[in-house]
Amino acid sequence: MIKMIELPYSLDALEPFYSKETLDLHYNILYKGYVDKTNSSFVNLESARARNDFKNIKCLEKELSFQGSGAILHEMFFQNMKPASEISRIDCRLVQKIIEDFGSFEAFKRQFSEAAAVVEASGWCLLVWVPNFKKLEILQCEKHQNLTLWGCKPLLVLDMWEHSYYLQYKTKRPDYISAFWNIINWEEVNKRFLEINF
Ligand code: MN
Repeated sequence: MIKMIELPYSLDALEPFYSKETLDLHYNILYKGYVDKTNSSFVNLESARARNDFKNIKCLEKELSFQGSGAILHEMFFQNMKPASEISRIDCRLVQKIIEDFGSFEAFKRQFSEAAAVVEASGWCLLVWVPNFKKLEILQCEKHQNLTLWGCKPLLVLDMWEHSYYLQYKTKRPDYISAFWNIINWEEVNKRFLEINF
């Protein structure tokens, strides 16, 4: 079960840049809804596992992605804000890396603002660290679920694109999937798991 994070400032602390009324509704109603429904997802998934009944698994996992990603992103959003009066000069390792990857802080700010402005309907603009590229990037996330949970670290993956099985298994996806269980490098999967900082 997850809990709502406490707001690290009072509801009116971000005024006039972010109004008390907006923050109140955003935090107490919308964010609370994501947290509550993420917990309901956990309960429903537990129950499906206990009953060994996976007929609704697509729906249950979609719900977990939607509600869970909503909870995680809002948590970051509220934590990455701070009353304007408490903000002093920004000078940190991240800013150095931003300058390195975007050319200058102003250039980063320009790209982030332009990207945020064209996010389609319900979505987010994110500055992200891409471990594989060892660099910062800006992404426009449409909606916020796309069947992932932000910040998760993939441990074991199976390519379900047709190119990955069609030549051999044609339309028999289940056969491809059951074959996969015979060829998993569990040492590698375990290695990735052990890299996690618990
Ligand atoms: Mn929101």
